[in-house]
Amino acid sequence: MSEPFIGHVIDGKEEESHGGGRFETVDPWARTAWAQVAEGGADDVERAVSSARRAFTEGEWPRMGYEDRGRVLRGLAGLIEAHADELAAADSRDMGRPVAQALAKDVTRAAANFRFFADHARITGAEHYPSDLGCHVYTRYEAAGVVAAVSPWNFPLMLESWKIAPALAHGNTVVLKPAEQSPASATLLAKLAIEAGLPAGVLNVVHGFGPRAAGEFLVSHPGVDRITFTGETATGKAIARSAAGNLTPVSMELGGKGANVVFADADLELAVRWSVQAAFGNAGQVCLAGSRLFVERPVHEEFLARFTEAAEHLAVGDPRDRRTDIGPLASAEHHAKVTSYLDAVERGGQGKIVTGGRYAGDTWAVRPTVIVDAPEDAAVCREEIFGPVVVVTPFEREDEVVARANGTPYGLNAMLFTENLRRAHRVAAALKGGTVWVNCFFVRDLRAPFGGVGQSGIGREGGAYSREFFTEPKAVVMNVGMPEGR
Ligand code: NAD
Repeated sequence: MSEPFIGHVIDGKEEESHGGGRFETVDPWARTAWAQVAEGGADDVERAVSSARRAFTEGEWPRMGYEDRGRVLRGLAGLIEAHADELAAADSRDMGRPVAQALAKDVTRAAANFRFFADHARITGAEHYPSDLGCHVYTRYEAAGVVAAVSPWNFPLMLESWKIAPALAHGNTVVLKPAEQSPASATLLAKLAIEAGLPAGVLNVVHGFGPRAAGEFLVSHPGVDRITFTGETATGKAIARSAAGNLTPVSMELGGKGANVVFADADLELAVRWSVQAAFGNAGQVCLAGSRLFVERPVHEEFLARFTEAAEHLAVGDPRDRRTDIGPLASAEHHAKVTSYLDAVERGGQGKIVTGGRYAGDTWAVRPTVIVDAPEDAAVCREEIFGPVVVVTPFEREDEVVARANGTPYGLNAMLFTENLRRAHRVAAALKGGTVWVNCFFVRDLRAPFGGVGQSGIGREGGAYSREFFTEPKAVVMNVGMPEGR
C-alpha cells in the first residue's frame, strides 16, 4: 500500500510542491516513514505569500468584521472537535505524543484557541483619549497584513492554533510553516478551515525544512508583515537576522530551562504530583518543563523518594496505547541529543542518575530520569535537554534558591510550591520569567501574557497582547471643535 500524501495548502487547495519534491515523515514509535510530504521551496513560498497577500488586499476576510469572522472561527473550532480523533492521531503518529493526551489536551485547546480569540477580538474595546484641545482621539486596531507563522513539533496542532487563531481573528491572512517532523495536523487543520468557510488564501500551509529552505524563504520574504515563531533560541536568532532585512516585526517564544522550587512548608503530595507533570509531561519535550528542581533541605530526602517513586510509575511505551504516559522522543536525532546528556552523566562529573535512562531495546524512548548531585555548571543543569530528564538539588535559603533559579540565560517560566502566602508572592516577584506558577503548572488563562525574557523570547502573546502584535494600532485625531487660532 502506498504511503499517504500530505500536501501544502495554497489558495484553498491541497497541492504538490512546484518542483514535485517530497520528504518522509517518520512515526517515532514504529521508526518507519508513514507519509510522504510536499517539500516546499522558494516557488511554493512565493505562491503562498502571493495568495495570502491577494486575500488580504482584495478578499473579504479583513473586511468581514469581527462578528462574521468569529462565526467562521467558531465553526472551525466545532470541526476540530468533530475530527478530534484524526487530529490527535496525526500528531501522535508524527511526534509520538500519547494519543489520549493529544485528544484530552491538545485538540481541546486548539478548539478553545479559535473560540477564545474569536470572542476576544469581538468584545475588546479600544481606547478613546480624553482631550481638552477640542479633539476626539481614538485608536483603531487594524489588521497587520500577511502573517508568517513558523512552529515547532512538540505540540503541533496546539501551538499552530495559538498563532493562527489570533492572527485570523484580527483580520490577517496567514502562511504557516509547520515543523518538518510534524506536518500532518497542519494540512488537516487548513482543510477543515476551508470547510468552515475560510476564504481561499486566508490560511496557507507550506511544508518543508528551515535553513535555506521553506522556513527561511518565508521569514525573509518582503511580502510578510509579521513573523510569529516558536522554537529553539538559536533558530530564533537566525529568524531575527532574516526579519531584520525587511524590518518585519517578530514575536518569539523560545527555549527554556524552568526552575521548580519546593519549599519545606509545601503540600508535598501536591508538589510531587505537579512536579512529575512539569518534568515528564510530553516526555519532557516542553519549553516550560520544570527541569531544574530545587527542594528545601528539610524535605529534600522525603520529596526525592516520593518524586522518584512517582516517576517510576509512569508508563513508557506505544503512544497509541491509552495507558501510556510517555511515548517515544520525536525523532532519531532528538533521541541522540537527549541520550548524549545521559551518557555524559554516566561518564562522571555531572552527578548521578537515581532512576531512568534509556528505554528497552533500540526504541527512541527515554525513561523518566532523575539526576542528583550535579554541579551547578554541569550541562544538564544549564542547557535545555528537552527530554524526560530532571536534576534535583537541595537548597538552604530563599535568597539562595532565587539566585540559583534565576542563574541561566533563559527566562520562560518558573514554579514554586509553598503554603506561605507572603513567601508565594515575594518569590513569584523575584523569579525571572514570563510566567510563574504557584502550587500548579501549565495552567493557562488565554487572556494573560505568555512569553519569555532573556534568551526565552521577544514579546508576549495572549489576549490583548496578541491583538497588539497582530494589528497596527492607528491613532485617529479628529477636530470636533478646536479653538480658533490653534
Ligand atoms: P526548531 O527551532 O528547530 O524549529 C522550529 C521551526 O523553525 C521549524 O518549523 C523549523 O523548520 C523552522 N526553522 C528552522 N530554522 C529556520 C530558519 N533559519 N528560518 C526559518 N525557519 C526555520 O525547534 P523545534 O526543535 O521544532 O522545537 C523545540 C524548541 O521549541 C525547543 O527549544 C522549545 O523550548 C521551543 N519551544 C518554545 C515554546 C515557547 O512557547 N516558548 C513552545 C514550544 C517549543
